[in-house]
Amino acid sequence: MHGSKILTEADRLMTVCNSCRYCEGLCAVFPAMEMRRSFSDGDLNYLANLCHACGACYPDCQFSPPHEFDVNVPKTLAIARAESYAAYAWPRACAGLFTNNGVMISLIAALSVAAFIFGFAVFNEPKAIHGIHTGPGAFYVLMPHNAMAALFGAAFAYAILALVMGVRAFWRDIGEPVGMKTDAPSLWQAIKDALNLRYLDGGGVGCVNDDERPTDRRKIYHHLTFYGFILCFAATCVATLYHFLLAREAPYAWWDLPVVLGTLGGIGLLIGPAGLLVAKFRRDPELADPARAGMDVAFILMLFLTSLSGIVLLLLRDTAAMGPLLALHLGVVFAVFITMPYGKFVHGIYRFAALVRYARERRMMGHV
Ligand code: SF4
Ligand code: SF4
Repeated sequence: MHGSKILTEADRLMTVCNSCRYCEGLCAVFPAMEMRRSFSDGDLNYLANLCHACGACYPDCQFSPPHEFDVNVPKTLAIARAESYAAYAWPRACAGLFTNNGVMISLIAALSVAAFIFGFAVFNEPKAIHGIHTGPGAFYVLMPHNAMAALFGAAFAYAILALVMGVRAFWRDIGEPVGMKTDAPSLWQAIKDALNLRYLDGGGVGCVNDDERPTDRRKIYHHLTFYGFILCFAATCVATLYHFLLAREAPYAWWDLPVVLGTLGGIGLLIGPAGLLVAKFRRDPELADPARAGMDVAFILMLFLTSLSGIVLLLLRDTAAMGPLLALHLGVVFAVFITMPYGKFVHGIYRFAALVRYARERRMMGHV
């Protein structure tokens, strides 16, 4: 007896696959499945988050529709995965927030915060919005650095807390009897597998997208998005160190490290999300979970808008458009922070936890 219909269906499919085992070389899901004879809800959520949605096991399957066994592993695990995000969300009242209207909620959050910052500046000093401000400290004419740091620090701290609580619940559910501990070699193996997206290649041939010819496009766009995000995060960290350790205020010159990192990351966050969006719309609907498309699109779109607003701000920061553009950019970044625990962002965290569990299981079973 399982907690949901989709977990019951996932159990049925894993039982069929465990008898067949034709796909065991494609990814980590099938070897992990083979280590079990029965599947708890936690096991199925673990397998669902171990799946990288490459799609390879659908065209390869002799039991896929119209066969009466009706085996569709990618779609079933995609739905189970999305439902697991809601099941482990913290606080529970926010579970499922993004199931149907993620794009709208993200955009409203971004515009609300942009309007708040805009209003704050108009109330404090109307010239901050219209005037031309250049040189160190120019951004803080709009909003003092301490107020900005407090606003974004609080949003970021909340996002981290909610993510930690969520992954803690996930880890407990899938980790029995491992508990919260792991070992360094398993952690290192999981880091390597996550950084090169080892299981997003259909066993070496690439992802199955809109037809049965696999390509590496999704993997490349995913890499651009991930490493673009990391570079932008590094740019923010370096800028924070500049501010507090060196007393150097933003904005910085084109050649300065925060701007170089942010620009490179921004380019990745323009190309990667745009490519992922195109791939998503072209993907065979048989492989995806159309009911949760809004959650995926919202996250990808917000990353794209973060980068777009940041790059336009960089280009026009010496003009009178700086004030409104900075308010808009900060609004988008704030929306990304507060929506992170309730949208597609969590897939990276849960998938990494599943990879750690998989590496640990393999070690315990003597496979490495
Ligand atoms: S997906 Fe199909 S071919 Fe692959 S292991 Fe399962 S039943 Fe066998
Ligand atoms: S879709 Fe890809 S990653 Fe997911 S179970 Fe099938 S082969 Fe494995």
